[in-house]
Amino acid sequence: MFEMDVPTRRILEAALAGLPPTEKQCAALLALPEASLEAAAVRAVADAATRRRLGDAGILLGQIGLEIDACPGKCAFCSFGEGHTAFAPSRMTEEEILRNAAAFTEGGELYALFLMTMHVFDFGRLLRVVELLRGRVPAATQLVVNIGDFDRSQAMELRAAGVDGAYHVNRLREGIDTALDPAGRKATIGAIRESGLDWYYCCEPVGPEHDPEELAEQLYLGVELGCFQHAAMRRVFLPGSPLASRGQISERRLAQVVAVAALACLGCPETRSIAVHEPNPLGLTAGANTVYAEAGANPRDTEEDTAGHRGRDIAACKTMLWECGFTQLLVSPDARTPLREACQA
Ligand code: SF4
Repeated sequence: MFEMDVPTRRILEAALAGLPPTEKQCAALLALPEASLEAAAVRAVADAATRRRLGDAGILLGQIGLEIDACPGKCAFCSFGEGHTAFAPSRMTEEEILRNAAAFTEGGELYALFLMTMHVFDFGRLLRVVELLRGRVPAATQLVVNIGDFDRSQAMELRAAGVDGAYHVNRLREGIDTALDPAGRKATIGAIRESGLDWYYCCEPVGPEHDPEELAEQLYLGVELGCFQHAAMRRVFLPGSPLASRGQISERRLAQVVAVAALACLGCPETRSIAVHEPNPLGLTAGANTVYAEAGANPRDTEEDTAGHRGRDIAACKTMLWECGFTQLLVSPDARTPLREACQA
C-alpha cells in the first residue's frame, strides 16, 4: 500500500472525471517536488486523460526557420537576440524552403508545416512563400506561421493565402526577459482568434527560476482564450547567452509542466494537441501527443541549420511517438494513418 496526499488525489480524481484543475490547483500541482509520488501520479493521470480525450493518434509537426537576423525581440534565452547573437544574418532561398518542405511532407504524415521568422519580418515575402508552398505541399497539410506580432487584417490575409494556424505566445516574463510588450503579444493572439486561425500556444521558455504561480498563470491564458494546441517548452542552456547562468530544468520537470497544461486543457474544448518541446519520451507519456521536427533557424541552437543538430527529423519523431504508445498519426483534422506500419517501412 502507498498513500498520496489527499488534495492532489482529489484534483486528479476530478480530472479523471473530466473536471480540469483551476489555475490555483495547477499551481499546487506544479509545486509538487518532481521526484515525488504525487508528481509521478500527475504525469500518469495526464497521460491517461489525453489518450482518453484525443485517442491514440500522435501529431507530427515540422518547422522551418526561414531566416536569421539580430532580432529586436532581444529575448535573453534566444540565440538570435540583438545584442548577444553570434549569428550573421542569413535567409533561406525559395529552393531551400521547398526542399525542406518536401522532406517534411512527402510521406503525407505531417499534420502541419510551420514557417518561423524573426520578430520583425517581411510580410510580403511570407505571403509569397505561403502561396508557393500551398501549390506544393499536400492539400491536407496545415500551414502554420510562427512570426512576430501582426494585426487582424494581416491575419485575414494570411488565412486567404492558405495559412491555417499561428503559433503565438505571451512568454514567461515577457517584457522582462524580452524587449517585447505583453499587451502586443496578447493583441496578436486576439487577432489570431478573431480571424479563425487555429491558435498554437505554449508554456515557455520554462527555467528553474519560474515559480508555480507564474507558470500556472501563463499556461492558463491558453485555456481561457481557447488554444488549439497547448504545450510546454523548457529554456535550453545556451552558453554565453544572458540567461545561461540560470541553468535548465530536467525533462522530468518539463513533463510535469506538460502534464499540468494537459489537465488544465480538459476545460478547453478547442484543444486537440498537447506538445512537448523539444521532443522527448517523458513528455509523450505525461499528457503530450505532439512533437516537432525542425530544419533551418532554431532559437535554441548554435548551428545555422538545426537539421542534424538539435532539430529532430521526421523518422526520429515518428519512432519516438511509436515508442510512447501512439499507434496512429493524425494527418489532417479528420484523417489518420497507422503509425506502426510507417515505423516499419
Ligand atoms: S525568440 Fe523570437 S522574438 Fe525573441 S529574439 Fe528570438 S527570434 Fe526574436
